[in-house]
This record gives sequence, structure tokens and C-alpha cells, in this order.
Amino acid sequence: MDSERIHSSPQCPPSSSPAWFTEAGSPHHRLQWQVTRTLYAGDSPYQHIEVLETEQFGTALVLDGILQTTAADEYIYHEMLALVPLLSHPHPARVLIIGGGDGGLAREVLRVPGVQDVVMVEIDRAVVEVARKFLPHHTAALDDPRLTIRYEDGVQYVAALDAADAFDVILVDATDPEGDGPGQVLYTTEFHRAIRAALLPEGVYAQQSGTPIYNPDVLTRVAHDVDREFPVCRVYWCTVPTYPGSLFTFTMGSLGPEPLVPIRRLPHGAPTRWYTPRIHAAAFALPPVVAELLPERVAAAQA
Ligand code: SAM
Repeated sequence: MDSERIHSSPQCPPSSSPAWFTEAGSPHHRLQWQVTRTLYAGDSPYQHIEVLETEQFGTALVLDGILQTTAADEYIYHEMLALVPLLSHPHPARVLIIGGGDGGLAREVLRVPGVQDVVMVEIDRAVVEVARKFLPHHTAALDDPRLTIRYEDGVQYVAALDAADAFDVILVDATDPEGDGPGQVLYTTEFHRAIRAALLPEGVYAQQSGTPIYNPDVLTRVAHDVDREFPVCRVYWCTVPTYPGSLFTFTMGSLGPEPLVPIRRLPHGAPTRWYTPRIHAAAFALPPVVAELLPERVAAAQA
């Protein structure tokens, strides 16, 4: 997503003309969110971090000018990135999250039955600190005793893992590969190979693979990579209103479990706002315009 910040005034003083945060889905299409206040703006060693109060979607986290998550619609992305893989796995005891600094994914992972320990490898401590201050719903589970947060590069962490430290589920919740942010390294063939080596037998892997509306090449590249490295590769989708194009994909690799239908469920009555077992299955039903971007055997398995 080539994103450029067109305008957001740091203090957004009350004025007759409201302030707007603008993100470009492409050089030819922009999204704008009316901003009532900038709650935080600062540079970490890795990226420019902003927290904006938006009229329509509440508090929003923005990294290097790209909107990451908002209070109003974050549940869609985080429920789908956590619950589809974890409820496809028979015993997701050990889970690795790479990225995820806003805390939303860890919150969803930690509520799944059977999860015993979660390691979150987030390169930028400042994102976690800012999220704790301004995104309390996202970070509600960051003090769960089962969670360990490590502030380092996910690629280096995975490369240094030995077999004794392998995981049942690995989720990558990172910034996009575009631009020159720290997330680029998480979309390479070498990284997908290292991920496979870091999984236990029966392990599953999932990552966000962007919107095919603006970046079909990212989905194609990730799906072909994962399909080469894993015996089972699947792609599923959801809609995230605040992501340019709204249609958003995830790519999964599996060493065993077939994720097309969930094999487990959340405890009866566990509140979700997007995920249901039927949504899980429906998310793997791909429109032809998306299926055509994938390796043939993946598209055929999901036809
Ligand atoms: N969960 C949000 C969403 O809904 O898309 C966005 C994800 S989260 C804010 C993205 C995180 O990935 C950021 O905190 C960023 O610092 C982290 N990140 C990027 N590159 C990384 C790397 N190489 N290793 C670890 N974390 C990384």
C-alpha cells in the first residue's frame, strides 16, 4: 500500500474546517478520516508513530503514515487472524506472534482454549507503550502471565530458534511490505522457510497478505511462497472498513490440519463480533478474481 500522508495537523486545533488524516490506497485513490485530535505523535528508532482520535472510527494507530488499527473495527482483523488458525489446530499450546505491538492479536489468541504460552516478538517497544496508553481494549491481555513480550526483530528471533523452542502456531501481524518500514523482511521466501522450521509437527502459520484490490502482487507472492514451503496452503479473507480496499486477505500454511472448517470451537457463549464457525468456513470461499492470483492447487482446493 503506497501510502503518503497528505495532511494531519499535529494539534488539530478546533477550527471551522475539520482536520483530516489521509491515506493513499494507491497513487490514484485516497481515504480520509476526520481527525478530532492527535493524541500522540513521535518517532521511535523504527517508525513514526501517531495516535489519532477519529470521528468515525475512534482511536486509530498510524505507523509511518499507514493506518494500522482502529478501536471501531479492529475486532474483525484480530478475530480472523487469531481464531481461524487456532481453531483449525488440535492443540495450540505454544503460539508465536511476530509484530502485533498494539496487543489486539495477543488478546484474541489468549482467549482460545488450550493456549498455554504465547511469545510476542515486537521490534518496537514504543508501539507497545503507546498502545498501552491509548488503546486499552487492544492491550487488555498484555499482562496475562502466559504472555512473554520480546523486543527484537522477528526474523532474527525465528532464525535463532532451536527445535526445542518450536511452536504449534505462528502468526505474523506486521506492518506492510511496502515502503522502507521494518516489516519488509517478513515477506520473503527465506522467512517463510524459517517459519516452517520453527513449527512443531501439525503446526500452522498465518499472516496478513494485504488487499488484492490494490496489491494483488503481494498476495500472489506470499501465497506462492507459502505454497512452496508448506504441504497445505490456504487463503481466506474478511473486510476491514478502515483498510484501503476493505477486502483483506490472510495466507495460511499448514503442516497437517486442513483449515477449511474449524475442528474446535470457542467455549459456548464466548463473545465474538465477527468470527463464527460459519464465517470461518465462508472466509475460504474465494471470488474468482482472488482465486486467479493463487497457485492452481490452492485455488482448486478452495473451489
Ligand atoms: N494489528 C494491526 C493490524 O490490525 O494490522 C497492525 C499490526 S501491528 C501495529 C504491526 C507491528 O509489526 C508494528 O508494531 C511493528 O513495529 C511490527 N513489526 C514490523 N516489522 C517487524 C519485525 N521485523 N519484527 C517484529 N515486529 C515487527
